[in-house]
Amino acid sequence: MGFRLACKDLGTTCPFVAHGETMAELTANAAKHAKEVHGYTDEQLSDPKMQEKIKAAIKEE
Ligand SMILES: [Zn+2]
Repeated sequence: MGFRLACKDLGTTCPFVAHGETMAELTANAAKHAKEVHGYTDEQLSDPKMQEKIKAAIKEE
């Protein structure tokens, strides 16, 4: 049991899917990917609108 977040659910064509046992682990993995691959900054990722989008795309698995 854990959580997943597919990058393509955030409007990209990227095949990356972040996984995590906990919500904190998932968001850490997703944030690392977003910064390394897509060039996002912490500031952009902590934007309330971005946070809402991310939360809506998180699924349990
Ligand atoms: Zn991606």
